Amino acid sequence: MKNSTDDFKKLIAHCKEYGYVFPSSEVYDGLSAVYDYGPYGVELKNNIKEYWWKAMVQMHENIVGLDSAIFMHPLIWKASGHVDAFSDPMIDNKDSKKRYRADVLIEEHLAKIDAKNDKDVEKAKKRFGDSFDEAQFRATNARVLKRQEERDAIHQKFVKALSSEDLGELKTLIEECQIADPEGGSRNWTDVRQFNLMFSTQFGATSSEGGDNSNKVYLRPETAQGIFVNFLNVQKTTRQKIPFGIAQIGKAFRNEIVARQFIFRMREFEQMEMQFFVQPGTEMEWYHYWKEFRMNWHKSLFPAEKLQYHDHDKLAHYANAALDIEFEFPFGFKEIEGIHSRTDFDLGNHQELSGRKMQYFDSDLGESYVPYVVETSIGVDRTFFAVVSHALQEEEVPDAKGNMATRIVMKIPPVLAPVKVAVLPLVKKEVLADKAREIFNRLKWVTQCQYDEKDSIGRRYRRQDAIGTPFCVTVDFETLEDGEVTVRDRDTLEQVRIPIDAIEGHIAGKLDFRTLIKG
Ligand code: ATP
Repeated sequence: MKNSTDDFKKLIAHCKEYGYVFPSSEVYDGLSAVYDYGPYGVELKNNIKEYWWKAMVQMHENIVGLDSAIFMHPLIWKASGHVDAFSDPMIDNKDSKKRYRADVLIEEHLAKIDAKNDKDVEKAKKRFGDSFDEAQFRATNARVLKRQEERDAIHQKFVKALSSEDLGELKTLIEECQIADPEGGSRNWTDVRQFNLMFSTQFGATSSEGGDNSNKVYLRPETAQGIFVNFLNVQKTTRQKIPFGIAQIGKAFRNEIVARQFIFRMREFEQMEMQFFVQPGTEMEWYHYWKEFRMNWHKSLFPAEKLQYHDHDKLAHYANAALDIEFEFPFGFKEIEGIHSRTDFDLGNHQELSGRKMQYFDSDLGESYVPYVVETSIGVDRTFFAVVSHALQEEEVPDAKGNMATRIVMKIPPVLAPVKVAVLPLVKKEVLADKAREIFNRLKWVTQCQYDEKDSIGRRYRRQDAIGTPFCVTVDFETLEDGEVTVRDRDTLEQVRIPIDAIEGHIAGKLDFRTLIKG
């Protein structure tokens, strides 16, 4: 889809209409930034998780899985730094009463300056044709240079304010850049304050009267800590040697300040994380390895031009190197996955606070050490969002009578598609229905299928296109005589006539994870 508000709205409406994503608690007017996945949504989500798991765990001898609990000892979040530092700088607009992340407002302002320069470059490229030298143009064009200088100066102040957590300076920058409320246009801002993103609740039956916090627990804001505290359990029980990784998929919760971008930023979401334990000093090598590996995983789903790296301006409290892989969502390039070199920050702190050793004995070196960790952390929901936003297309195709007509189709990679095969009797007649049911009952052992006999065949094809079903198998009167069916391909619209026994073979190739996983 094109990047526009209209297309974004269409995507949200499509996801609702076709059973992919519903707003949570809709009958009570919804709950902000919480969503439910419908019948097709849950299938797609499961398939995305399976693809990640296969690429990370099944394909790597030295990566094993874990499913740790959401509730954890409260000291875990003290050791990890989340109690003291897991916060975002927030700012309110006094007129619109809308709340924003101060850092995001500044980042968006910088992105606008970049976009203006890019536009000038594009224009010049068109004017000069083949002889255009972009680097020279950027280095000499007065208007572009002036903007770039301004941008660099803001950026420098921004990075400094973020790393020294100078909230006053962030406010000054917002004023200096004359940043207005993106919704209301007002520049009447409050001061910038820190806001901790962790949800907490009470654990067990004893109430904490008198303000005693002894039974306060947090809903985990990331799945990673469950991996760290189980590091030795896993290493000993699987006899893994460093370097090795532990992977986990699970829910995480963050009380996000701004939550207005569909399933991009939710308060309850799911992460797929892998912590890779390495010998100290080798972490940068592995950081680069995982940076490449993960980008290739994304490239197996999306065209390269929709993806980019983004180095962090401010390193998180635990990292000595960090970058994001960004995807071009309908509202621009945004993070889909983070790759972080977390040093021995987490294991070291857990060792200190728990008093238990978090060391690994390296038999090759004959010494013990606290391993360093490289993390890959991707959101299931953001990947889901990327898949559907890339897949949803409107195209002009010939209809049954040869006239051009618009069709709406979800071109989800067949391996990830919620329904793989729709079995359709050409018309609603018992003889055809019986045969179609027989085929459906056979194919459902192999893959996710759907039987549908309601409405005309044309409407049913359109419905399957809108759901994203890669194959439609149609049973007609000839099928009863020659045992052949028509198989329609969602993407090419090609229709081939094949024997019933050949259906499985015909679809198998496209439903194999090897179409995505390379090597
Ligand atoms: P952002 O800067 O967008 O808030 P983050 O840097 O805090 O993201 P990480 O802590 O690196 O995110 O989390 C890893 C991944 O988890 C992200 O790349 C994203 O895909 C996903 N994720 C994080 N927060 C959310 C959220 N509120 N809703 C949905 N997915 C999320």
